[in-house]
Parts: sequence; structure tokens; C-alpha cells
Amino acid sequence: MKVTNTIFPTLPQRIAGLGELAENLWWSWHPAARMLFKMLNRRRWKESIHNPDKMLKEMPPEQLLAASRDEEFLAHYDDVLSQFREYMAVKTCSLLHNNCPHDTPVIAYFSAEFGLHHSLPFYAGGLGFLAGDYLKECSDLNIPLVGVGFMYPEGYVSQRVSADGWQESVQFKLDREAASISRVIDNAGSPLVVRVPVIEPPIHVAVWKVSVGRVPLYLLDTDIEENDPWNRGISARLYAGDLELRLRQEIVLGIGGAEVLQALGIEHAVVHLNEGHAAFSLLERVRDRILQGLSLEDSLDKVRETTIFTTHTPVPAGHDIFPFPLIEKYFSKFWDSLGLDRETFLQLGTNPDEPLGFNMTAFALRLAGYKNGVSQKHGEVANRMWHNLWSDKSAEDGPIEAITNGVHVPTWIEPKMELLFNKYLPYGWLERHDDPSIWEKIDNIPDEELWKTYVWLKIKLLNVIRERARQRWSIDQVNPSMVIAGGAMLDPSVLTLGFARRFATYKRADLIFLDSERLKKMLKNRWKPLQIIFAGKAHPDDHPGKMILQKIVTIAKDPEFAGRIAFVEDYGEQFAQYLVHGVDVWLNNPIPPMEASGTSGMKASLNGVPSLSILDGWWLEGFSGNNGWAFGDEPITGDRSLVDANAIYEIIEQQIIPLYYDTSEDGIPVGWVKVMKNAIKQTGSHFSARRMVKEYVQKFYSQALVSSGKNP
Ligand SMILES: *Cc1c(COP(=O)(O)O)cnc(C)c1O
Repeated sequence: MKVTNTIFPTLPQRIAGLGELAENLWWSWHPAARMLFKMLNRRRWKESIHNPDKMLKEMPPEQLLAASRDEEFLAHYDDVLSQFREYMAVKTCSLLHNNCPHDTPVIAYFSAEFGLHHSLPFYAGGLGFLAGDYLKECSDLNIPLVGVGFMYPEGYVSQRVSADGWQESVQFKLDREAASISRVIDNAGSPLVVRVPVIEPPIHVAVWKVSVGRVPLYLLDTDIEENDPWNRGISARLYAGDLELRLRQEIVLGIGGAEVLQALGIEHAVVHLNEGHAAFSLLERVRDRILQGLSLEDSLDKVRETTIFTTHTPVPAGHDIFPFPLIEKYFSKFWDSLGLDRETFLQLGTNPDEPLGFNMTAFALRLAGYKNGVSQKHGEVANRMWHNLWSDKSAEDGPIEAITNGVHVPTWIEPKMELLFNKYLPYGWLERHDDPSIWEKIDNIPDEELWKTYVWLKIKLLNVIRERARQRWSIDQVNPSMVIAGGAMLDPSVLTLGFARRFATYKRADLIFLDSERLKKMLKNRWKPLQIIFAGKAHPDDHPGKMILQKIVTIAKDPEFAGRIAFVEDYGEQFAQYLVHGVDVWLNNPIPPMEASGTSGMKASLNGVPSLSILDGWWLEGFSGNNGWAFGDEPITGDRSLVDANAIYEIIEQQIIPLYYDTSEDGIPVGWVKVMKNAIKQTGSHFSARRMVKEYVQKFYSQALVSSGKNP
């Protein structure tokens, strides 16, 4: 199989490598590469919304020709290209012994979402960014892994908020030709099309490839002529439609995904499921072994030895349960092909606590020998939640381990911060950023330098917000109150809280408005005011989530709140890149223990934005007493909102506001900068994707590869 080279026919030979760079997301986490595209043409870089593929395709040949003769540009070009080539040439993986097979990937990582860059909108939230960061880190560590996911041409939700605060979805269609993806073609030179095995009526999938540094990601696409209209739409959008469409998506991802790897000649020995959506891929693994002549029990054992499953949430909506008749409709032929009867098959996915349907998480937990939650606390919660699946285990002594999430440091460190760190941290710090001793040197950064860098980022964020509000005003001519709600009155000298994530109800975006009079006093304080920026999308079918969003927009429009509450539309990767390092405090107040990990707080902390967070998920491990603020450790049954809201008010009034506004003579909040430094120090190594991937390798992958016979 080959991958079509998306051709950039207008590129002069001297700078032809730009095409290579544009087609590999390596550029997205290397500032020097991004700078190269920016140097090529600042305005077009901006207009393409930082999409080099689109930019190169639209650039007039004479501009490219001029660049190919510009000495300064060429010097930078040669430098970046040699860095890229050097990176791509590395073949060994020190983590997996020297004899690890490296010509083809041996670990297949399945995920329904991948959040890699805003030009590839295949994510809804945290799960997707975790998967995207995971691939980038596997590339950096050179783990022989391949990703499998979906190419959703319509993405998730493109959000617009109407004048009455209601979330609306606007039509969006990805231009496949102007993104860093390429269609995979077969040996005969036509687009590769794979039929999902066993399932009737037949479904076909086309395949796209994204190069994430050294790691390939294959994306399935059902929008092709071979499918009838009903099937063409399977992969149109993320998490949309009814249960049956959802089931059909998961069949395509799991069973189709396994078939695609086969067609590509990728003989993966180990499977890692990022959440249960792709768990049907394990059926293919069982079927293969049965076809080789093993008994069902032996096949299941073999599959278990080489399967890793990561569960990501205790929230019920995060676990798909398909009614048995629906499963029967699609799988009756499949269980025949496994030599199983209906009962035995359905039993594999039955949760004894709730035997109403086929539970994808129960199924994945049964068939994976290695399983984990995404923080220490979540590991405990998951064991309690699922202990009935194992008759011999108590709730305390379950088989679900814990590997705490982390974020890809090169992606989430702000480039200006990175430059500052380059100046004061040991040389090569980014290459060994999971070494905690490196981060001790954060104390060497002079307070005023860190503060100045930070203020610059805050102003940049507010400029971005106000420019968006201005466009809504001047181009869309929205009502003035919506311009104010969009953040037109935000002030960079004011203490700023940020709250941005999916608008799932358990995240309680509106908690801080519980006692709005008390909050207003803080917002409108003449000398030490407060402002809050909100962003996030509700799932299109989540009516309660949309109502919370509406409540916040209504407040943001209300003069009583003095223009100090803003709601910014269409939260995604691009805006997150401004928001997580441009606010002063990152607010997080879900109902515990629902937040399995949370990662946006890590992104903020890494850049010196401390968290004010309930003790749940990562913050139970991350909070040290001096790197942010914590509340909510007392167990409360029933409605805890009053207690939690009061705790938030008290911390803001008594600790955050006084500390923030207590500045030295030259305007530096010295005590505050100390908290910022502690936040950076304590995040950089431990809450990095590097520490996380290494844990997966050491705890799971090494063992599983030995069992598979691929890594003796
Ligand atoms: C990191 C990230 C998330 C995840 O945030 P949580 O804190 O885990 O809820 C969601 N959306 C975007 C755009 C992100 O970058």
C-alpha cells in the first residue's frame, strides 16, 4: 500500500521540503517549523488559521519563487528541515530493548477521537486531546505504535450562540484536500477501500493517513460511493445520532479498523483501547485465533495477554450500552463465525449490576488483561464501579490499575514561555522534561521576567477575544449585548479566572453564580476587581448542558455583572492555546468523583497558571499546598453545591485577591509569582505525557509484547 503524496506542484525545488513538512504534524509541536511557515507569509499563515497544507496550496507561485531566493528564509528552512529529517531517521527505541521490531508498528492504539490540531477537528474534548498528545509523545519516544480512528468530515459541533443564549450548531465540512491528511491508495493505484468483515449488509471504508511525527494515524471514512446513503453517513460526525448509528460507528471503528490494519500489512501484536468505543476490535482478534484452531477459552486468554484497555470516566453517559436486540441484529452472523451461541456471546458484554444490554466497558474489561483508570483516585473509583465483573475480587482489590494522565509538553508549552525556560533551565531541558530536577531551576527565572512574559500572554488573549467580539459586531452585526457577553469589556489589569471545558452538567460551569450577589461584589470591586472567561460546548443532545450555557451567556449580557463575565464561542484547540496560558487562575469544580483526571488544568499549570480546583482527578495528586488552591475534600452526600460554592468564594476573597493585588513597588506581585513558579515546577515532569507513556510501556506494553512473542 502507498499513501498518495499530496502534491504541491508549485513548490520550487530548492524549498520542496516544505511539502514534506506540511504533510507531517511534526511542525505543530516545533515552534521553529511554525515560524518557518509564518516567515513564508505572515498574512497567509494567519488566514489559513495556521494550516500549512492549505497555505501552500493557495500561495501564488511567484511568492514561493521569491522565498526560494531569500537567503534569510533559506537559512531557517535548511535548519528546520535538517531537524525534521534527523528526527524522522531515528529507528531505535530505548524503552523497548534494542531488539524491538521497528519496521512496522506493533501496537495498535484505537480511539474514537484524536485531538491533534484545530485543522483536524476529530475531537470533542479531553479524551481526544489525551489521544492526540499520546500519539505525539509515542512519536517523540519512538514507540512502535499506530493510531486508528475516524475521519469525521463534519467534526463535532461548530458552536454559535444565539441572542437568547442558546447553543446552535453551524454547518461545517472539512476540506479534505486542504488538511494534513492523505488518502491511502492500494497497490493498483486506486483509493484503498476495505469491507468491514462479517457484518451485513456490507459497509465499506476508505482510509486516510495522518503522519504524527514518526507515528502513523489511520482514519476511517465511510463517505464513499461504494456505500449506500445510510452507510455513507456513519462517520460524518462525532457522537451524533441514535444508538443504532452509534453502534454502527463502533462496529466500523473496531472491526473495520482491525481489517484496515490487516489490509495495510500492519501485523500489530498488541491492542490498546482508549475508552470502550473500539472494543469490537477484540472480536476480530478472537476470531483470528479461533480460525487458527484455538479453542474459545484459549483464544480469549491469548487476546487478554496482549490487550490494554483504558477507561476514562465514571460518568454513565461515557459507557455505551446497546440493547441486546440491536446487538443481535448486527452480530448473529458474527457469533456463528466464532462458533458461539447467543447467550455466551452476550454474556461477554453483560454487566451483572445492570444486565440490560451489551456494555462496551464491561466487554473491554473482560477481554483486556491490562486495564487502568486515568488517575490514582479514578483507579479506585473504577474498581469499585466494576468489581462485580470479577467474582474473586473485592472492591478494594480490583484488577484495574491507575496511570495518571499527562499532557504533551512541547504542544502545550507556550512558545514565549519556552524561550524563557530555554534561558534559565539546563540546556536540552525539553528533551528530558520528565526529570523533576530540571524544573527546580524555575526558581532562577527573575520574578519580573516571568511576570512580564505572563502579562504579555494575557494581553494577547484579551486581544484575541476582543477581536472576535469586534468581528461579531462588525461582520455579523449581532446585538451589542452579545458583543459585551463575548468579552469586549475585559480588562488586562483585572484578576482573571478561566473556565473552559465541555459543558457536561457534572462539571458545574455555573457553580460560581450560586450566590450572585456575593460574586458581584467581587466583580465590581473598585480597587481589586475580578473577571471570568467561560468557553465550552454542550453535546448537541444535552439539553441540561445547553441550559447551563444559556444561563452563563444571559449573565454575561446582564449589566449587573458589569461586563466582567465573558462567554467565548466555539471552544477548540486554537482558542485553548490562548486561554490556558492567558488567564490568572484556572477554575475547576466538577462533582467528585466524576472528573476522572482532567487535563486542561495541567496545560494551564505548566505555563504558570495555577488551579483553583476541587480535590478530584489529577488535582488530588497535583495539589501540594503552594502551587494553587484546593477545596472540597470532605465527603458530602446529596447536593454539595452550596458548600463548594462557599469554599470557592472564601478562597477567592481571602487568598487569591489579596495575593494577586499585593505588588512590589515596580508592580510585580511577588507572592503570586511564587505560586506560579511552584505550579510550573510541579507540573512539568510529573503531569507530562512523557511520564505517562513511559508508565504504559513499563507497566503494560513491555509485558504484552513479551506475551505476543514480538519482543522476546
Ligand atoms: C485539554 C482540553 C480539554 C480537556 O479539558 P478537561 O480539563 O479535561 O475537561 C478540552 N478541550 C480542549 C480544547 C482542550 O484543549
